[in-house]
Amino acid sequence: MDYSLLVEAYQRIDSTTKRLEITDHLVDLFKKTPVELVDKVVYLTQGKLYPDYMGIELGIAEKLAVKAVAMAAGVSEPKVDRTVKELGDLGETAAKFMGKRAQATLFQEALTVEKVYDGLDRIARATGEGAQDLKIKILSGLLSNASPDEAKYLVRTVTGRLRLGVADMTILDALAIAFCGSKDLRPMLERAYNLSSDLGGVAKAVAERGVEGVKGFQVTVGKPIRPMLAERLPSAEEILAKIGGKGLAEYKYDGERLQIHKLANGEVMIFSRRLENITHHYPDVCELARKHVKADEVILEAEGVAINPDSGEMLPFQELMHRRRKYGIEEAMEQYPIALFCFDLLYADGEDYTLKPLPQRRRKLEKAIKRSERVQLSQAMVASSVEELEKFFEKAIEDGCEGVVVKSMGSDSVYQAGARGWLWIKYKRDYKSVLTDTVDLVAVGAFHGRGKRAGTYGALLMAAYDKKSDLFKTVCKVGTGFTDEDLAKLPKLFKDNVIPHRHARVESQLEADVWFVPAVVLEIVGAEITLSPIHTCAMNRIRAGSGLAIRFPRFTGRYRTDKAPEDATTVEEIVEMYLRQLKKIEAEA
Ligand code: AMP
Repeated sequence: MDYSLLVEAYQRIDSTTKRLEITDHLVDLFKKTPVELVDKVVYLTQGKLYPDYMGIELGIAEKLAVKAVAMAAGVSEPKVDRTVKELGDLGETAAKFMGKRAQATLFQEALTVEKVYDGLDRIARATGEGAQDLKIKILSGLLSNASPDEAKYLVRTVTGRLRLGVADMTILDALAIAFCGSKDLRPMLERAYNLSSDLGGVAKAVAERGVEGVKGFQVTVGKPIRPMLAERLPSAEEILAKIGGKGLAEYKYDGERLQIHKLANGEVMIFSRRLENITHHYPDVCELARKHVKADEVILEAEGVAINPDSGEMLPFQELMHRRRKYGIEEAMEQYPIALFCFDLLYADGEDYTLKPLPQRRRKLEKAIKRSERVQLSQAMVASSVEELEKFFEKAIEDGCEGVVVKSMGSDSVYQAGARGWLWIKYKRDYKSVLTDTVDLVAVGAFHGRGKRAGTYGALLMAAYDKKSDLFKTVCKVGTGFTDEDLAKLPKLFKDNVIPHRHARVESQLEADVWFVPAVVLEIVGAEITLSPIHTCAMNRIRAGSGLAIRFPRFTGRYRTDKAPEDATTVEEIVEMYLRQLKKIEAEA
């Protein structure tokens, strides 16, 4: 197939922004394309060579492309650079130079789609020493045989700037029209795409066998499924009304969505929400999947969250970014281990679960994983009243989550791959604020440590002082910010304060492992103050049934030995801080 045919279609598509016209141009193109090339034509039209999950990226630096253009045209690099500045686009520049060159040469070999694809593929795969030179050579070889228009699109493709603006759904429409006779059949093609994440694969299947070709598309372990997404509503009332009065509310963890595929041979693959293969970022998750997933073959979804290895507390999302790098994964794994909060199951041992309702998927998920501290099910509850849902939401925020996702449990609550719909509704706070003041809080109890903290405390239960009642009221659990030295010191520091039950002046709904006489004051900094159904500080003051808590608390390292427990930050002060925070948020809004 002549590359010029593809380029003509690109030009037509480039000349319109109307979706229907773009679809028509694509239909023409697909009809002209030999069946065995349809997948390649689809990938090329998207500026790719393969589906995203293969991880083979086309795209060379503009600097290299400039070199290739100079080489092919027989001009100097500075000259090419100058023309790029003048024309504002390397594609147009290549067209200009290749036009001049075409007039000077008689013997050109016509470019075919096969040759272009093969050349681009070799460019994408070239690595190691000499790779840059090789890339330049291949590109300049292609350019030497290109017409001006071909050169323009070739250069745009190879530098990742094709940008025809063709949406996946437009390609599916065009495929349905070209090979199944009607756009009405698009949903079938769409489902095949959602299950395989491979538009070229779908194209080839319908080009070969029409609609029959995609009927057989199945969930395949090792190929990512396009993720189901959530709609959003601003209140518990609206969510429950939308979802039929009752839904499964789950914590919305603030980490990275991981689609985990465990293959029969024990191999594990992990795909991101954008379907990139990110297995190499998470060797520890692979290991967890091997040990904790009971089914032989499975696809499940989990949110991976960085945790404090000593206290088990969840850490803010930013800590996960340590995984997004080439080197130092080992260190990141140690410093920021991941806990998995599994929330869906799409496939298990030969059975496709995507068309089964949520309660059934959840039951299978419960059975399929062996739970541990590092592999958990998402916290969930069936919510059927606004009060229940609000409480659960507050608890989620306080525990370090972003909010909740409320999911339909009806008979139609299938896994809608690739779709954002009302079967899942997220409920997030619409503000973020930063607490700038530190607070001085009294340690009133502690929780046993584990791992590196076995033998000492994993977290301390902290309280503010309530002047009116002369009681200490809990406001957070803090396990972050302690150095190894601090940790070693803690049991000794509290030795004389340990008592067998909650102190009479402490008000707490939480059961600590160890209780203290309120005496030691520590300086704490947090991200913000939130409503909390658990902590007793300012209980019922702002909202019935809720107190206030400090979110993401961290010990600053300062022991306030200069302060008596009654000198600690008071409940009143925390209430004021909360109100100030609200005012600030309103002012910013
Ligand atoms: P958003 O990115 O704001 O559209 O929210 C959807 C994202 O929330 C998903 O892509 C997941 O990464 C994440 N998430 C966290 N916890 C859950 C959960 N329990 N169920 C579904 N998604 C969750």
